[in-house]
Amino acid sequence: MLDTDQLIICEHCDCVYHKVPLKKHQKALCQRCGAVLQRYNGMTLQQRLALSITAGVLWLMANFYPVMSISLKGLSNSATLWDSVLALADGPITFIALVAAISIIIAPMFQLAILIWVLGFALASKRSPGFITFMRWLESLRPWSMLEVCLLGAMVAVFKLAGLLDVLPGIGLFALAILSLLMIRIAGRDIRELWDALP
Ligand SMILES: [Zn+2]
Repeated sequence: MLDTDQLIICEHCDCVYHKVPLKKHQKALCQRCGAVLQRYNGMTLQQRLALSITAGVLWLMANFYPVMSISLKGLSNSATLWDSVLALADGPITFIALVAAISIIIAPMFQLAILIWVLGFALASKRSPGFITFMRWLESLRPWSMLEVCLLGAMVAVFKLAGLLDVLPGIGLFALAILSLLMIRIAGRDIRELWDALP
């Protein structure tokens, strides 16, 4: 059988290359279509696991602390991410509530749980139970996880409402902002390096 471990395929045009070791700030581009094949990633397993656990704590904060509080003439109200999903579910567009729950709460939660599970075993140079399934889930979950879209929406709401009411961004919003950035770093495509690290 051909040894395919050292080959890399361009996701955009299917051109096949040999993998090359990259130095800091380097990336490999496809010669045919110009897409990025590999990027240098200096993160060790320990760092990735530590960031995943941090992201888990931020996920809890984003979900249990209010994203924003509004007040008008002495009346005040605050909402968490979960409250916003429930509010959508009450309205005429229940389906959207389901999509919102999946993309801002459930998909990131599964991504983080799987990352912590897989990386925990990877530290001991072992494949976790269910490694193959979980690695494929990480790929399938990525397009569903849309924290950055939620963050943009929440920020637009804060700015729009600020003219009409007293709006105070909550701890949840700050947690959400850092979590969105962390997710890009830890749950990106470079997690595929685990396939090579744990043969
Ligand atoms: Zn290409």
